[in-house]
Amino acid sequence: MTTTQPITLALSKGRIFEETLPLLAAAGITVAEDPEKSRKLILPTNQPDVRVVLVRATDVPTYVQYGGADMGVAGKDTLIEHGGQGLFRPLDLCIATCRVSVAVRADFDYAQAVRQGARLRVATKYTQIARDFFASKGVHVDLIKLYGSMELAPLTGLADAIVDLVSTGNTLKANQLVEVERIMDISSHLVVNQAALKLKQEPLKRIIDAFAGAIAPR
Ligand code: AMP
Repeated sequence: MTTTQPITLALSKGRIFEETLPLLAAAGITVAEDPEKSRKLILPTNQPDVRVVLVRATDVPTYVQYGGADMGVAGKDTLIEHGGQGLFRPLDLCIATCRVSVAVRADFDYAQAVRQGARLRVATKYTQIARDFFASKGVHVDLIKLYGSMELAPLTGLADAIVDLVSTGNTLKANQLVEVERIMDISSHLVVNQAALKLKQEPLKRIIDAFAGAIAPR
């Protein structure tokens, strides 16, 4: 069935894009081009009124919040850091799963540092999650905001610990870091612009319902 009101879906390249494809297929939507082979940022689909825009993972909530896209798929980590303003969050899609953890150098006694009430220097891209987590434990931290390669921070003496996404744990292991606390499990969620949900209720609800029926429970 074709929609009459155009729908724009914001996705990021990589795991989220790949793992959203089967959900789109359940809604009868196939993306016409492979983002890994194309430089296009707007991808048409087999449905003339549905298109996909490719944005950075951290920009998905912003695009949806301000109506640059009607809906999008974003990790729980990204949504917490964004704050979620203006977003309706109807579904946990149970895709792109990983966890947010605290990691330190293998020779750093994290438990002892926490017990002694030491002020920890923590490097992370996820400052909101880290701030909330250490506050809930009553641990004093100096947060150092980084945008990538967090694993380097404890190795160079920039920080005592990092808060980062962990999937297999291979990146930590390759850099002689150990996971000392698991903060939360992460998966990607469907987010919808609140105004669009009213103005384009029928086509959006059709996609949300199809996604809901296709989610593989964890
Ligand atoms: P791994 O070596 O499998 O534990 O993966 C860890 C690396 O992949 C870290 O650099 C993470 O920032 C990144 N990573 C893992 N899972 C995700 C995810 N779901 N979304 C984005 N980045 C991820």
